[in-house]
Amino acid sequence: WHHGRAQRVKILAENLLDRDAGLLWHPYAPVDAGALYAVKGAQGAELLLHDRSGTEHRVVDGMASWWSMVHGYRNPALDAAAHAQIEKFSHVMFGGLTHEPAIELAERLVAIAPQNLRHVFLADSGSISVEVALKLALQYQEACGAPGRQRFLALRGGYHGDTFAAMSVCDPVDGMHSAFAPLCSEQLFLPRPPAAEHAADGNWIYDQGEFDAWASGARGIAAAHAHELAGIIVEPVLQGAGGMFIYPPQAIAVLREIADEHGLLLIADEIATGFGRTGRLFAVQHAQVEPDIMCVGKALTGGYLSLAAMLCSARVAQALAAAHGASALLHGPTFMGNPLACAIAIASLDLLTGAGPAADFGPGAPARPAPWQSQVARLERGLRGSLAPARTLPQVKAVRVLGGVGVIQLHQPVQVAALTAAAVECGAWVRPFRDLVYVMPPYMCTDGQLQQLGDALCGAIEQVHGG
Ligand code: PMP
Repeated sequence: WHHGRAQRVKILAENLLDRDAGLLWHPYAPVDAGALYAVKGAQGAELLLHDRSGTEHRVVDGMASWWSMVHGYRNPALDAAAHAQIEKFSHVMFGGLTHEPAIELAERLVAIAPQNLRHVFLADSGSISVEVALKLALQYQEACGAPGRQRFLALRGGYHGDTFAAMSVCDPVDGMHSAFAPLCSEQLFLPRPPAAEHAADGNWIYDQGEFDAWASGARGIAAAHAHELAGIIVEPVLQGAGGMFIYPPQAIAVLREIADEHGLLLIADEIATGFGRTGRLFAVQHAQVEPDIMCVGKALTGGYLSLAAMLCSARVAQALAAAHGASALLHGPTFMGNPLACAIAIASLDLLTGAGPAADFGPGAPARPAPWQSQVARLERGLRGSLAPARTLPQVKAVRVLGGVGVIQLHQPVQVAALTAAAVECGAWVRPFRDLVYVMPPYMCTDGQLQQLGDALCGAIEQVHGG
C-alpha cells in the first residue's frame, strides 16, 4: 500500500492472472492457458476488468455472460430474491420433499411455455436438461412399445452441450467432441437448412428452392430411418455455439410434420434462444410450433445461478406414467430444484413478463407488451443501427441481426486474441470464434451502450484485420 493506486491495481491483477494460470481450467483450453483479464466488478451491463499491465477497463458485456445475464449484473430485484430465500433455506434435497420456489417456478414456466407443455423437470445445467430430454424420449418410445427406437435426428452445425448424450447430437465434424466418439452413440444428422435473414420489417428472406430441396431431403432421411428414431433435437431458428447460424422458422414446421408422421418426439433446445432472445419468448414460436419437449437454461435465473429445466407435454408424460413397471423418469441430480436458484428464476421471469404471481399471466391475462418484448425490440433496433457500418467494411462478409443477437461474419478467421484485446480497448467484451464476431448483450443495455458495442466491434475489426 506504499505504492500509488495504479501500482496496486497492477499487483492485484498480476497476482490473480498468475495464480489462475496452471491452476484452473477454462472452457476448451489447456490448463496453463490462463485468462486474459480479471473481473473486479460488474454492474448493470458493464464489467470492470483488470489486465496484466495494471490497467482498468470498463466494458459493455456483449456476451451477457453467454446469453444468461439478461437483466444485468447486481440487479436489485434478483439480489433481493436471493437474499430473501437465503434467509429461509438455500438448498434442500428434492427426493420426497418439495418447496414453494420450485412449485411457483414450475407454474410460471408452464404458464409462459407453448401451451401443450405441462410438466417440468428442474435440472442443474443446460447439458443435463438435454440428457434428461433424450432419456425421456427413449423411455417414451419404450413405453409406447417401440424400444428399438434409440437414435436421434439432429442438425449439422448444432450444439447441445458437453455431456455424453448431448455431445452425440452435436455436429459430428466440428471437432469439439471428436476425441470422445467411441463413447458417443451414433446419431443421424440432417444438413442445415439454408441460411435466412430476418429483415427489419419482420420478413424472413431465404432461397425457397434451396429450402424445398432441404425439406424433401429431410423427409426422405426421416422416412428411411423412422423405425430406429426416437426423436428430433434442434436449436430452433438460431444455432448458437455451432456457428451463430440463422435459418428459416419454416424448417421447424417441417420437422414438426416429420415428427408427427413418424411418431418421433420433437425436442426444442431453447437453452440459448429461450426467454425472448430471438424476438419471441421461445424461438419455436416464430413457426407457431409446439415441441413435445423443450429445454431451457442460461437466462432462466437471469444468469445468477446454474439452473435449467426440461418441459414436456401431457401426452409424453402420460405415456410414461402408464408404462407398466417403468414409469419413473430415470434422473435425479443432487441439486435438482435448488430453492435459491428457483427463487431467483421466479424474480427473473417476473422482470421479463412484468407479472406478479403466476395467476397474473396465464391464459386470459391482459394483452400488453411484456417488458422483454419492448427490451428485445429495442435491442434489435439498436443492433441494426450500431452494426450497420460493419456492412461497409471490406473485411466483413455479412451482418445479421435477430432479436437481441448481432453477428458479424468476416471473410477470414478472426485473430481472436488481438480482436478481443482491441475490442476491450474500445469498451466492449466479446468472445469471437472462427470467422464470427457476435454480441448478445443484456436486455437492459442502453442505446448508448449498444452504440458503444457497435463502434467497438467495427473499430476492432478495422484495427486488427485492416490493411
Ligand atoms: N444447448 C445449447 C443450445 C447451448 O447453447 C448450451 C450452452 N452453450 C447448452 C445446450 C449446454 O448448456 P450448459 O452449458 O448450461 O450445460
